[in-house]
Amino acid sequence: VVQIGTPDRSVVTTCAYCGVGCSFKAEMRGDELVRMVPYKDGKANRGHSCVKGRFAFGYATHKDRILNPMIRDHYSQPWREVSWEEAFAFSAAKIKDIQDRHGRGSVGAISSSRCTNEEVYLVQKLVRAGFGNNNIDTCARVCHSPTGYGLKTTFGTSAGTQDFDSVEYTDVALVIGANPTDGHPVFASRLKKRLREGAKLIVIDPRRIDLVRTPHVEAEHHLALKPGTNVAMVTALAHVIVTEGLVNESFVRERCDWDDFQEWAAFVAEERHSPEAVERVTGVPAEEVRKAARLYATGGNGAIYYGLGVTEHSQGSTTVMAIANLAMVTGNIGRVGVGVNPLRGQNNVQGSCDMGSFPHELPGYRHISTDEVRSIYEDLWGVVIDKEPGLRIPNMFDAAVEGTFKGLYVQGEDILQSDPDTKHVSAGLAALELLIVHDLFLNETANYANVFLPGSSFLEKDGTFTNAERRINRVRKVMAPRNGLADWEVTQRLAQAMGLDMNYGHPSEIMAEIAATTPSFANVTYDLLERMGSVQWPCNETFPEGAPIMHVDEFMRGKGKFVITEYVPTDERTGPRFPLLLTTGRILSQYNVGAQTRRTQNVLWHDEDVLEIHPHDAEQRGIRESDWVRLDSRSGSTSLRARITTRVAPGVVYTTFHHPATQANVITTDFSDWATNCPEYKVTAVQISPSNGP
Ligand code: SF4
Repeated sequence: VVQIGTPDRSVVTTCAYCGVGCSFKAEMRGDELVRMVPYKDGKANRGHSCVKGRFAFGYATHKDRILNPMIRDHYSQPWREVSWEEAFAFSAAKIKDIQDRHGRGSVGAISSSRCTNEEVYLVQKLVRAGFGNNNIDTCARVCHSPTGYGLKTTFGTSAGTQDFDSVEYTDVALVIGANPTDGHPVFASRLKKRLREGAKLIVIDPRRIDLVRTPHVEAEHHLALKPGTNVAMVTALAHVIVTEGLVNESFVRERCDWDDFQEWAAFVAEERHSPEAVERVTGVPAEEVRKAARLYATGGNGAIYYGLGVTEHSQGSTTVMAIANLAMVTGNIGRVGVGVNPLRGQNNVQGSCDMGSFPHELPGYRHISTDEVRSIYEDLWGVVIDKEPGLRIPNMFDAAVEGTFKGLYVQGEDILQSDPDTKHVSAGLAALELLIVHDLFLNETANYANVFLPGSSFLEKDGTFTNAERRINRVRKVMAPRNGLADWEVTQRLAQAMGLDMNYGHPSEIMAEIAATTPSFANVTYDLLERMGSVQWPCNETFPEGAPIMHVDEFMRGKGKFVITEYVPTDERTGPRFPLLLTTGRILSQYNVGAQTRRTQNVLWHDEDVLEIHPHDAEQRGIRESDWVRLDSRSGSTSLRARITTRVAPGVVYTTFHHPATQANVITTDFSDWATNCPEYKVTAVQISPSNGP
C-alpha cells in the first residue's frame, strides 16, 4: 500500500540558504517534493540541519513564481509576456544600442551568491567577452568583500583557513561580529558541542547573542563593544599579546615577514592602543580585554570565527586584517583546531567570489591587469579583455544617476531591498535605459525593470556551491526547471543572442573550463565530486583531493604579512538629534530580505521584525513592550514594534531585516568600507520615539 506523500525516489543536493552548505536528500513523489532529509554523509552537516534547510523550500513552487519572460519598453508600462526568443532578442538589441550610443562601458551585470559556481562563471564571461568590459560585480560586495581584501593581503587568498571539523580540536573559540546560532545554525551546534566539552569562548559583539549564555554554554568573556569600534578592540587585544610577552616568536620568525612584524609590533605596543586607553572608545572594561587576550594567546588552539559584524563597517577590511594579525602573532594558523574563518552568509558567497565576479579579478582572485592571466581567457574565448577594472555595484548606481551607465543585468538579487541607501539605488535604477532582472519573483528591483527573465530555484539546478570552508558541493536537479530553462541556460542564451560563441551542453562542461583555467580548481571534476562527495579547494596537482586546512607549511602568499591597522572612527556619529546606534542581524527561521523564507511556513516563526531597545532607553522615551516605535536616521525613517531587552546595551538598538515593511535600508547610511565599498550596515545613528504604527 502506497500512502499519499510517501516518497518514491530521492536526490542528494545542497541547501541554498547559508554558507554552511548542508547536504540533503530531497525526497520526491512523482514531481512533488515531499520532504528534505538531512544527509548523514554530508561532510558539512553530518546529518544535521536547521529549520531553513529542512522546512523552507515551499517558495520553489509558490504561486508568486514568474514562469514566463516579460518585457516592456519602460518600467512605467505594463508587462507583456513574451517567448524566451523575444526576451533575449529584445535584451541583446537594447544592450548593443546602448553601447553604440554610450560606449562599451555603459552596461554591466551583478551576479548572485545564491547561484551556482557555473552560473556565476557564465555571467562574468558574458560581461567580459560579450559586453567587452569588466563591469561585473557580485552581491558579495555588500557582505564579504572586506574578507576578500583583508585575507588576500595578509595570507594570500580570500578564504576561510579551516574545515568545520577543525572546531573539534579548538580550545579557545573567538567569535566576533557573528551570531552563528541564528546565522549558521548547524555550525553553531558543532561549536556548542565543543564548548560543552570544555573549550573556552570569547564573544566580541555589541549584543548579547545566544552563544554568550545558552544551556551548558557560557562565554568566558563577552566584550560588548560599542558598534563601529572593532579595530580599536582587536588592536587592543594585540597590544596585550605583544606587551605581555605572549608572541609566538618561533612561528612569526619562520612563517611571517619579520620586518613587517617588527613594525607592526612597535605600532600595537604604543600606549594609545592599550585596553585602558581604548576603554572609552569601545566601552569595554580594560581588565576584561586583557583577560580575553591572555586566554586567546595561551589557551591552546585558538580559532577565530567572524561574520558581517566585522565586514559591514567603514573599516571592515582593516578589521579582517587585524584579526589575521592576531592569528599570526599567536601562531594560530595552519594546523587543525585554529585559524581564521569567515562565516559566509549566503550559500555561495565563497564561490561567487572564487568565480571572478569582481570587477578587478578573474576567476581564482587573479588581477585583471595581469597580462598572462588575461591571455588565458583571451586565447580560449577569442576576445580581447579590457585590462582596466570595471565598476563596483555602488559605482554603477552613481554612474547611472550621472547618466554614463545605462544598462544592467541583475541575477538573483533584490538590490533595491538589500543594498544601502534605498533612495540612491532607486534613483540609479530609474535612470537606466535597460534593467534585466533574472529572478524567481517580481521583486522590488523589478519595479524598475523592462526585462524579466524567470529564474530557477536550487531544486531545479545542476551545478556546485562552495561553502564557507571552501567545500565544493554538488547541487543536483531534483525537478525540471518550472520555467523551462536552468539559470545557466538563460545566461547562455542571452550571450548567444549577443553573438557570443557559448555552447555548453551541461554545467559539468562549464566546470571543466573553470578547472582548465583556474589553478586552485585544476583537479575539480564532477567525477571527482561524485567519488569524494565534495572537495575543498585548492584542489590541484599539489592537493589532488583538496585541502581541508590552508597555509600549513607556508602562506599562500609565501610569508604572512602583518598590516598596521589604525583605528579610524566612522563618520556616522551620534549627536543630540540621533543619540543611539542601530545595528542589525538575522534570526534563525528567516533569511536575508525574506524573498524565499517569507513564502514558506517559516514565516509562522517570525512574522515581523522588531526593534530591541534597552529598558533604560525605552523608559526615557515612554516606550513599552510591543509599542510601535518610530526610528529616524539622517537617511530616512520607519516604524517597528519595540522589544525591551537587556540583550542590547544602553545607547544601542538592534533589528533584523527580513520583512520589506521594516525598510532597514531606508535608515542605513551610504558610508562604506574604505577598501571595498562594502556598505556600513552595522552602524547607523538613530533616534526613536513612540509612534502610532507604520
Ligand atoms: Fe541550510 Fe545553513 Fe541551515 Fe544548513 S545551517 S540547513 S546550510 S540554512
